[in-house]
Amino acid sequence: AETLLKNADMAMYKAKENGRNNFQFFTEELNRIVIGNLELEDQLYKALRENEFEIHFQPKITVTTGKIISAEALIRWHAPKRGLVSPASFIPLAENTGFILPLGDWVIEQACKVLRSWLDNDIPVVPVSINLSPRQFNQPNLLKKIQSLLGKYNLPAELLILEITENCLANDQQDFLRTLEDMKKVGLQIAIDDFGKGYSNMHYLKTMPVDYLKVDRSFMSSIEIDEKSRAIYRAIISLAHNLDLFVIAEGVETETQFEFLRSIKCDAIQGYYYSMP
Ligand code: C2E
Ligand code: CA
Ligand code: CA
Repeated sequence: AETLLKNADMAMYKAKENGRNNFQFFTEELNRIVIGNLELEDQLYKALRENEFEIHFQPKITVTTGKIISAEALIRWHAPKRGLVSPASFIPLAENTGFILPLGDWVIEQACKVLRSWLDNDIPVVPVSINLSPRQFNQPNLLKKIQSLLGKYNLPAELLILEITENCLANDQQDFLRTLEDMKKVGLQIAIDDFGKGYSNMHYLKTMPVDYLKVDRSFMSSIEIDEKSRAIYRAIISLAHNLDLFVIAEGVETETQFEFLRSIKCDAIQGYYYSMP
């Protein structure tokens, strides 16, 4: 009976993962995935203790002058047995299990440390952006934690940009907006990440106190061949500019893409065209 319940539980989790309102049968495959994830979770905690994580930075440049305006902190895992592991393969698990909280704290501290070392070594400093997952964003003490790190490294809040996605929207919109306003009040900058990937709620775009809009790279790949993708891009930029937002195009890889973005007055770009992370 115990095994039956345990297996039913796994199937239920799978169903929830698929967006609720559906059913799933338990399979041996599911069992293997769950066990694999448990092992991975163990390895992630160990990796954090043993300093196997690293931050890479990817610059964002303005379209008109090519000046670097900020850099995005992207996490990398140097796993002894697996090699370099991409965040796409462990961030979702980290988010599900809660490991993202200690990991996210580590990323913020690392970003602050690097900013401090740039300042101390007279390296021209640009703001650094960090990615906040929904679970991180919704911690009640997040702002306090960030402020205490800024204090520890003696940094102005203006040097941090927080990248959030619309998945960070909690059930309570008022709470969400209040958190953002509190962040803005202390001088932190906010970017909406992956815009255009989800529902891209226009109402929030209007009400949210944000500085930057990062357009998801899913449109970028088809810009060269598809007039509809170009039309969407044009519309997003004109919408964002009308709302006084600064637009950053993600995933720019080619000169043609860059020239198109210049022609439609996109503000800044990030992508392999200028630099890998
Ligand atoms: P993201 O926030 O959308 O980050 C941009 C991703 O696009 C990065 O992938 C970057 O390496 C990749 N990229 C940049 N330019 C190009 C390009 O020209 N072409 C293509 N094809 N890709 C490009 P990466 O580093 O693998 O990160 C994947 C995702 O993992 C990130 O997507 C972000 O959601 C998440 N992530 C990374 N670091 C962190 C972190 O410290 N905390 C949290 N919560 N999430 C993170
Ligand atoms: Ca991002
Ligand atoms: Ca993004």
